[in-house]
Order: sequence, then structure tokens, then C-alpha cells
Amino acid sequence: MSNITRDQFDVLVVGGGPAGLAAATCAAECGRHVGVVDDNPALGGQIWRGEVGKAASEAVDWYARLRAAGANVLCGARVFHQPEPEVLLAEAPDGPLELKYKKLILATGARERFLPFPGWTLPNVMGAGGLQALVKSGLPIAGKRVVVAGSGPLLLAVAAYLRQHGAEIPIICEQASWGSLVGFSLALLRQPQKVRQGFALRKQLAGISFAASSWPVSARGERAVEEVVISQSGKNKTVPCDYLACGFHLVPNSELAALLGCRLRDDLVQVDDYQQTSVAGIFCAGEPTGIGGLELSLVEGRIAGLAAGGSAPAAKPLFAEREKLRKFARVLDRTFSLRAELRGLPLPETIVCRCEDVTCSRLAQHTSWRAAKLQTRCGMGPCQARVCGPATGFLFGWAQDSIRPPIFPTRFENLITFSPEAERSEITGGRG
Ligand SMILES: Cc1cc2nc3c(=O)[nH]c(=O)nc-3n(C[C@H](O)[C@H](O)[C@H](O)COP(=O)(O)OP(=O)(O)OC[C@H]3O[C@@H](n4cnc5c(N)ncnc54)[C@H](O)[C@@H]3O)c2cc1C
Repeated sequence: MSNITRDQFDVLVVGGGPAGLAAATCAAECGRHVGVVDDNPALGGQIWRGEVGKAASEAVDWYARLRAAGANVLCGARVFHQPEPEVLLAEAPDGPLELKYKKLILATGARERFLPFPGWTLPNVMGAGGLQALVKSGLPIAGKRVVVAGSGPLLLAVAAYLRQHGAEIPIICEQASWGSLVGFSLALLRQPQKVRQGFALRKQLAGISFAASSWPVSARGERAVEEVVISQSGKNKTVPCDYLACGFHLVPNSELAALLGCRLRDDLVQVDDYQQTSVAGIFCAGEPTGIGGLELSLVEGRIAGLAAGGSAPAAKPLFAEREKLRKFARVLDRTFSLRAELRGLPLPETIVCRCEDVTCSRLAQHTSWRAAKLQTRCGMGPCQARVCGPATGFLFGWAQDSIRPPIFPTRFENLITFSPEAERSEITGGRG
């Protein structure tokens, strides 16, 4: 059995992306004993991955403030369970952690939404942000042809990043229509910072063809993807490529909030003015409350940190900025909502749950997520429905009706370490 490391904090923050960094910093600057736990080897979350230790950037400034305020950083540790109120369990490379807290801030971010289509499980068909993360970790991409497809502003950021690192981008396919995208551009005009980002992206992407009302129909290849068939304004076209970087906007990581009993609506964690959830003492900031981008994550993190740190009045002046950014989040949501045609992408034999090899036709025999899960094992593999859950939600309109611990696959030795004596004895047949 593993040795448990125990720690206790006034404020514990789960997630070290922009929202978590801002929350932990502000709470620690209020004089609280703060811990921030993240499952990556370093802080920064999706957008600042690997940047906090490097040259000057906003990420570095936040990290310096966090350090100066004396917050404890626990990286490489993934929270998987709450055995009792005010205690979380995490799995770290050196063994399990038991983390006690008085106040908790959830800043668990978002992930890409994947939709199944023929060939989406071929090697080198990847999430757009996933491929970017691999390149950030050293995958050589120079000279490779990468088709970027799906939906959302992340596609543009990823295409710009990959091109900067030498990739050739034959086309960016966005499922939203030109009409929606024009409305989005007008909303951008009300956000000076976003206008600057938009112009910078336009320059970085100059010369790359961009197709609206366009999406991948199938990916084909012998051992890995070699070409993608895309639908472009109703016509199919084949584009040769080495990678397909594909994601359909983002979905919130709200499983931990659900496990802790926080109220959700449409998978989004519901919070009050101070970012407090429906559970007293548990706050939430960033993408789990709504997909809104970096600036919204930061301001929500600051408000949650100040409120959990005991300086709620100091958070009030930030409300107006947050409201402005939330309006932008609502526009994002409308613009990149998925069109009904995408429900027709998977063929009967297309795999939807890739962990358990469950095809679309097997799922179509059931009427609910629970029935499909019981009969096919859909969602019971290593991703624990993080990929197929949102996909079946879109394809069949199924809602996941329960979240059970552990919320991530966890080593047996860590589970058994925390099991009550009776359960342990049962698991080991009385020998434990
Ligand atoms: C794959 C991907 C790539 C992106 N790339 C860009 C980009 O290039 N440019 C851009 O403008 N925006 C990008 N975004 C959007 C960007 O992430 C958001 O706009 C915003 O920065 C999110 O900040 P956050 O702090 O709310 O969440 P995140 O940055 O997602 O941070 C959440 C952190 O919590 C950790 N976490 C979650 N659950 C647990 C747990 N149980 N235990 C421990 N740790 C946990 C996650 O691993 C993550 O590090 C990307 C999003 C995704 C999903």
C-alpha cells in the first residue's frame, strides 16, 4: 500500500490554468494558506502550458505573484475523489495525497469536443488543441501538412501556432456559417483586446484558405491519415494531409463539481456573484462556469480568490468587467453551436466510444445514456466518458445522470489505501 501525504489548506484550488493561478494568487495575497493542485507537470493550463517558467509573458507575472504570496504548488497530482466533506484525494507520482481545506476553488478548465466520423480513430487524426500540446512538448511538425477542422476560435489559434512551427496548413474548415461568423466579428469589435488578437491572427494566417459551413466527412489512410474528405458548402472535396487537427469547440470539465454536489445547468457549474457554487464554501472559476476565453477565466479566478480568501468586498469592482466578458461568452456559444447535419457524420459501423470499441449502430439501439452504458460499456473505459459523453449528448440527446468516483482512472493501490477497513477486507477477500 502507498504512503499517504497529508496536507491542509485554508483555500485549496484545483486547476493551475489562468483561472486557478489568479484564484490562488488572490487568495494567498489575502494572507491565507493556499494550495494549488494541477495534474500537469507545470502550471499554466491549456493556453500557458510550458510558459510559466519561460520568458516574459502574462503567465510569468502571475506565477511570480503566486510565488511571492507563498502559495504551495502541487503539480502532477490529479484529484479523483472526495471521501468526506472538506477532503479531496489526489493521485501523484510519489503516491496518494489527502488534501483538507476550509474553502475550495474549482478551476478545472475545459476540453475539446470530439465528434465521430468515419476514420476519426486513425493515427494522426487528433484534437486541434491536442496536436498543439504535442508540438509544445517537442513533436516535430515542420513540413507536415495539417488540415485544421471543426469549430471555434481555437482552430485559428492552433493553425497559427502550427504554421509558426513550420507546418503547412492546406485549409481551415469551420462548421459555423459565414452569417454566424460575421455576427461574431461584430461582437469582437466591442472588445479592444480581442480586436488586437484578431488582427494578429489574420496576419499569421494570411494565405491559408478558410472555409465556413465546412467539416470533415471522413479521414482515410492505410496506417495513418493520408487524406481528408471535407464537405464545403454542400460539396465534397478531398485534401491530402499528414495530420487532421480536429475539435468542435470546447466542453467544460465539470465532473468534479458534479461529484461534490454543485448545481449544474447544461453541464455548466452555476455560481453566484462571488463565484460561489450551490455548495457553501466551494467556488468555481473559468471554463466550467462557461466557455469564455482567457480574460474571463482570469477575472473569475480573481473574484473567486478574493471571496474565498475573505476579501469579498474587494471583488466587487471586478463584476462589471466580468459581465462584459460573459456577454462575449454568450456570443461564442451562439456562434459555434453545432449544426444538426453533424449528427449524420457517423456511419452505423463508426466507433463512437473509442475506449470500449462501441459503434454507432450499437448505441442507436438504446434510448438513454444509462441503458447504453449498461449494455455496451460505452463510457466505461479510461477516458470515463470525457470523449464519448459529449459526443453521445450531441448525437442522441443523452444526458449523463450520475458521476461516480474515482472521476479519473486511479491506481488500485491508491484506491485501496483510502478504503475503509471493511471495504478493504471485502476487496481482498478478507486477506487485506
Ligand atoms: C486543448 C486546449 C487548447 C487550448 N489552446 C488555446 C490557445 O492556444 N489559445 C487560446 O487563446 N486559448 C486556448 N484554449 C482555451 C483556453 O484554455 C481558455 O481560454 C482559458 O485559458 C482556460 O483557462 P482555465 O484556467 O479556465 O482552464 P485551463 O487552462 O483548462 O486549466 C485547467 C487546469 O486544471 C487541470 N485539472 C482539471 N481537472 C483536474 C483535476 N481533477 N485534478 C488536477 N488538475 C485538474 C487541467 O489539467 C488544467 O491544467 C485551449 C483550450 C483547450 C481545451
